[in-house]
Formats: sequence, structure tokens, C-alpha cells
Amino acid sequence: MNPESTPSLKLRVSQKAETILRSGHPWLFSDSIRDQSRPGAVGELAIIYDRKDCFLGIGLFDPDGPIRVRMLHTGKPQKLDRAWWQQHLTATLDRRRNLFDAHTNGYRLCNGESDGWPGLVLDRYDTTLVLKIYTAVWLPRLNEIVEIIAEQVPHERLILRLSRNIQDKALPFTEGQFLRGAATTEPVVFLESGILFEVDGVRGQKTGFYLDQRENRRLVESLSAGRRVLNAFSFSGGFSLYAARGGAVSVTDLDISQHALDAANRNFALNLHHPAISGCVHESVKADAFDWLNSTAATPRSFDLIVLDPPSLARRETERAQAIRAYGRLARSAIELLRPKGILVACSCSAHVSTPEFLGAVRDAATKSARPFTELQTTGHATDHPVTFPEANYLKAIYLSF
Ligand code: SAH
Repeated sequence: MNPESTPSLKLRVSQKAETILRSGHPWLFSDSIRDQSRPGAVGELAIIYDRKDCFLGIGLFDPDGPIRVRMLHTGKPQKLDRAWWQQHLTATLDRRRNLFDAHTNGYRLCNGESDGWPGLVLDRYDTTLVLKIYTAVWLPRLNEIVEIIAEQVPHERLILRLSRNIQDKALPFTEGQFLRGAATTEPVVFLESGILFEVDGVRGQKTGFYLDQRENRRLVESLSAGRRVLNAFSFSGGFSLYAARGGAVSVTDLDISQHALDAANRNFALNLHHPAISGCVHESVKADAFDWLNSTAATPRSFDLIVLDPPSLARRETERAQAIRAYGRLARSAIELLRPKGILVACSCSAHVSTPEFLGAVRDAATKSARPFTELQTTGHATDHPVTFPEANYLKAIYLSF
């Protein structure tokens, strides 16, 4: 990889940080550093030593953020040369081998920290790859990383996405740039569980699609036969298409964004060859879901299955309590719209709200509704979105039958 400046950047860390890093946690915070051999540049390799001056690990240095080093390797001394990076990617790809058949060609190839690539996500949509970078530490070695990806993952084009916080310091790289293959404005179409979806890899949320909800969508399909389904916070209609294929009588998409509702309409149009999808009544409602659910509870409208999958309601720790209350409120309004034997599927993608806090809020709302209910199941991360440390555990869902 990049020739590292000599002498190498060496850090000594607090006893507490030593233990945390040894346990496999990928972040070293600035206030845990006891000693630093010299100033470091963004993205250079930092070698971490323990109190006895023994090698502890190696990671990517960030002089600007509270997360000062993002770990790449912990354990025995190791040189991170090109062969190491190649092997690192092979191991990441191997974890997905045999997870998907030919009916699914859109999935996550690399899930950041939990795959050993802190702040780097790689998603595949058929022959298009979308590489999303959440920290500037990757920028100095981005070209080499893309070369290594190209050696191992066949594709026609690779789109670069940059999180908002690094977009203005990434030059010569730019948000939405095609790093490989000819740039195109044509939407990418890929298959998930045999359903076609269009994705906007250049401008879409995250890398264009919520691949993390695949398993929940499959479960919703299995629960939808004969039901009137409401998909609240529907985005491009992921849950809706599965519900329709599962035999839903009708599916209502509810989203605040017309752009999202239009994408869902196009996704329905792409799948009319499935008789169940063409036979399902599909309707869109453009509204704030919190208001709509609240006001609709007073009208005769009702559903047999409601999916609630809002965006993160706690983007920072200080919003946690308010988010827990909002999850409870959402569930309460949705339960009021559920017919007898109706099913509520409530999801949370807020990393700052823990699994027990979220499940507790939804169970509480169900108990307060005074309707008898049973808990069908709870779910977490999809298999291609592994989670290896607590902060990465953001996705949770609960299925309740009333
Ligand atoms: N369930 C989707 C992903 C949902 S992403 C899937 O499986 O693909 C969250 C969606 O909520 C986005 O489409 C966003 O436009 C929408 N949204 C955000 N705030 C909203 C609000 N107050 N009311 C309705 N929709 C909202």
C-alpha cells in the first residue's frame, strides 16, 4: 500500500483501552492515548503498543476525530502490505459465500468495522458496486483499495459514496463519482429474493437500498396472505413488494417523500410478471407518518398487517429518551389501526436505542392498548450485515399478533 513515512507512528494507550482493543473493539479514542511518537497524518498506519512495549495492534490514524485510530489488526505483529489487504478482502468475501442463490444479486459485501474495514461499506447491486466511505482515513489509500476490489469482485462499474462529514475534504474524490466503468444516469436494477428493484446508487439513501431489511421483508412476505398491509416509512417499497408477492389483498405505501413513493411505483411496475403482485391493489399516501397514523386512528380505515420502519429517531445519545417515546407513540397509533388478528411489525435502526429499550417501548404500547396479543418473534441483523461490537448493533424488529 502507500509507502508509510518513517519512522512509523507509535502510540501507547491506557490500560483500559488495552483491554478494550484486545477484546476486538475497533475504536481507539483520543483520550485513551498516553503517548504518541510524533504528529500523525490522516489515514496513516498507527502502531499501538501496550504498557510493556509489546505490539498490540495496528490501525488507521485520524488526527481530527475523537476516534483517533480505527483498528485493522489486533494480535501478533503484522505487516499490512498489499498481500495482507488482498487476503483481508478475500476473508471478507468468503464470509458471504453460499449465503445467496441466483435469486439475490444485491447484498452487502463488506460491513465496515464488523468485517475489519472500519468506516467502509461495499454493497453489490448485480454488476454495480457501491463503495461508501464514512471516514476520511480511507481517502489516501482509496485507489489501492479499489484496485484490490477490482481484482476479486467482477463488476461493470463502481460508484463512490461519501458520508456528508467528509464530502468537502475528499478531493480529488467526489460524492457519487464513478471510480470504475462508464458513468450512467440509468437506474441499476437488481434481484432480491426473485423480486426486481431499481436502485439509485449515485443519490439514494445509504448506498441506494436498505439491504439490511431483507430477512424482515421475507418474513413479512410469509405473513401477508389475504391481508391488507400498511407499509409505513415505505421508501422504495421493499416490504410492499414482498407483501404483495406473499398474497396481500392490498398494500398501502406511506412515506413523506414523493421521490420514494415514485420509486416504489416503478418497483411495482417492474414486477407485474408475478401474478400475486399484479393482482394486489397498490396505493400510495404522501404524508408525515406520525400525523397520518394519529389522525387515521379516528377514521374507519384499518389494516391486517402494519410495518413501521422509520429512519433513525436518535442520531445522537441526547435524543435517546425522546426516540424511545416516539417508538412507543408510533406503535400505539398503529395498533389502533389493526383489525382483530392483525400483525404489527415494528423496526428500529437507531444505534443509540438499545434492543431492550426498543422492544420494551413496543411491548408497553401493546400492553396499554388493552388488546390481547402474542409475541411472534424478534429479529436483528441480516447475515450479510454481521455485528461484532455493541455500537454496531443498530437494527431490531419485533412481530406482535393481536
Ligand atoms: N422500510 C424501508 C426503509 C425505510 S427508510 C425499506 O425496507 O426499504 C425511511 C423512510 O422514511 C424514508 O423513505 C423517508 O423518506 C421516510 N420518512 C422519514 N420521515 C418520515 C415521516 N415523518 N413520515 C413518513 N415518512 C418518513
